Amino acid sequence: DSADFDSEVASVCPFCGVGCQISLKIKDGKVKYVEGLDGPANEGRLCVKGRFGFDYIHHAHRLTKPLIRRADAPTKGLNVDPANPLTHFREATWDEALDFAAKGLSDLGGTKVAGFGSAKCTNEEAYLFQKLIRQGFGHNNVDHCTRLCHASSVAALMENVGSGAVTATFNEINNSDVAIVIGCNPTENHPVAATYFKQFTKRGGKLIVLDPRGQALKRHATHMLQFRPGADVSLLNAMMHVIVDEGLQDDAYIARYTENWQAEKDHLADFTPEKMADICGIAADDIRAAARTFAAGKAGMIFWGMGVSQHIHGTDNSRCLISLALMTGNVGKPGAGLHPLRGQNNVQGASDAGLIPMFMPDYQSVTDDGVRSAFTEVWKSGDFSAEKGLTVTEILDAVHAGQINGMYILGENPAMSDPDVTHARQALAKLDHLVVQDIFLTETASYADVILPASAFAEKDGTVTNTNRQVQMGRAALDPPGDARADWWIEVELAKRLGLGWNYTHPREVFAEMALNMKSLDNITWERLESEGAVTYPSLSPEDPGQAIVFGDGFPRTDKRALFTPANVIAPDEAPDADYPMILTTGRQLEHWHTGSMTRRATVLDTLEPEANCSLHPRTLRELGVEPGEMIRLTTRRGSVEIMARADRSVATDMVFLPFAYVEAAANILTNPALDPYGKIPEFKFAAVKVEKA
Ligand code: SF4
Repeated sequence: DSADFDSEVASVCPFCGVGCQISLKIKDGKVKYVEGLDGPANEGRLCVKGRFGFDYIHHAHRLTKPLIRRADAPTKGLNVDPANPLTHFREATWDEALDFAAKGLSDLGGTKVAGFGSAKCTNEEAYLFQKLIRQGFGHNNVDHCTRLCHASSVAALMENVGSGAVTATFNEINNSDVAIVIGCNPTENHPVAATYFKQFTKRGGKLIVLDPRGQALKRHATHMLQFRPGADVSLLNAMMHVIVDEGLQDDAYIARYTENWQAEKDHLADFTPEKMADICGIAADDIRAAARTFAAGKAGMIFWGMGVSQHIHGTDNSRCLISLALMTGNVGKPGAGLHPLRGQNNVQGASDAGLIPMFMPDYQSVTDDGVRSAFTEVWKSGDFSAEKGLTVTEILDAVHAGQINGMYILGENPAMSDPDVTHARQALAKLDHLVVQDIFLTETASYADVILPASAFAEKDGTVTNTNRQVQMGRAALDPPGDARADWWIEVELAKRLGLGWNYTHPREVFAEMALNMKSLDNITWERLESEGAVTYPSLSPEDPGQAIVFGDGFPRTDKRALFTPANVIAPDEAPDADYPMILTTGRQLEHWHTGSMTRRATVLDTLEPEANCSLHPRTLRELGVEPGEMIRLTTRRGSVEIMARADRSVATDMVFLPFAYVEAAANILTNPALDPYGKIPEFKFAAVKVEKA
């Protein structure tokens, strides 16, 4: 009860893209406990991370002083103890650290500097970050973790429906009678969304789960198609073939709202379920049955995750899902829609805010002179490059090539999160000047020349946008520890030292500036968000809480028509062979989030899942002579890790599932950096691997 705490502050869970609203109960300057609020996405619900995952905020490893690398520090590497950074760094004042950070970057100047921002930060901080790189260095070499997440989904959505965001909130499943969940594991990664999916099946909704791994939703599914990894396009084209072959498509919708149908139809003719069955590892009759169930629904939703996006054919996978929704008329009406489930709590917002090398805020092209001049007018500054910038992985390649020598990294951890992470770590070590802004001394901060101590979400005001396009207000409940500061404050101070003349005094001023050139924020003001907590974009009037469903009357494309883009089968970049006979796939676990820097410092979460582990089928373990709990060695063409093995019947016998949160067995030492040509997303979900007893 209220006697248990000194204050309570409404905010938003900082973990996954569901964006649950929470009430932080503060006692003696600390988060004592957390309750779910009645937010539009969560309606009071929380998962284990949202309920018990917050004491990382008070962890002894929090950075509390600016740090500058000591002149006599050992060679840069993963050799700094986060509990004792003074072996490699010395404490500095803010003035000294900011002057040093700014001078190092400006001395390199121009295209020698790149920025890697974060979906962990607020919309205002993401906007300021891209502005700092564009205005301060004159180019677009600025990106964030969407490149590792849903960049291919966004590429396909932009191409085919004219907008990169979801067409309907996940809560719309309340109005559906059929749904596809493909390449995602919501019970672990979007747990509160998964509760809506389960309730949907209890009401009689038909759930079709398509995934190379079994998962908890399997128990609730009408159809569970556990297909071969990498066979997404084959399976989806075969399902669409059935729909066309049996005349189950929505001809009226196709005629009114789409283009290129004939080409799609012709393309699908060859993808009979019988031809695709062996490729997919699914019987032709099962493919037919799933296709018929989806086509028979009155209103269907399609949800997908990184199992779809993180392939060299990730954009093609999403093109197929878009085509499937369009041909069945499942966009723009209650209970229907396309919904890539976003991973980080603000990856939608950071993308909307322009933290992307090819787009300004609201996905306006950097190559468009009119777009750039609209921004430089507001920024009162000169023009910047019309050339698309480099993506995350391209930036690190450019470091190796000597084209980039300085980086500003805010809240991201490429020393853990990039594919072929040894290559990424070597790039970080090679930089002449690396500025890292974070709350902990992460693996990436180990390589820094200067570290700027930043704020956790509960220590600052700012808006975030969840997977549902809901812009929500996060509020400061605590002061940052020691000399740590809000990220937006640090960005402003750095920009001042780069001569950019910024004078923001609060995030609300940044939000007001964003709204000048972002139509998505029409009718959404800071004041509204303060009083209402959340507004969904688009909002059609100052009173409209926002549109849960979009494109009910056509698409933001020529003639308001969505496009069918036929997709061909592309094999994974790396086929298993005699040396590397099994398939490695990576992902998250319920208790841990991303590179583990926060959740592995949260007592309850780390107690529940304390040790690096991977999962294999029990039969595979028997063949290897390995008991569950014993150590195995995983080796790919990039490197090896040793890790504890678990038995899991949901993993196919020729697969290993490896979570990526554990530095002691970093999954990305093994992953393949090959990129999807459109979204430039790496193939995290498929690598050839050798498995041995350690
Ligand atoms: Fe937080 Fe996501 Fe869990 Fe909600 S579902 S409490 S946003 S981690």
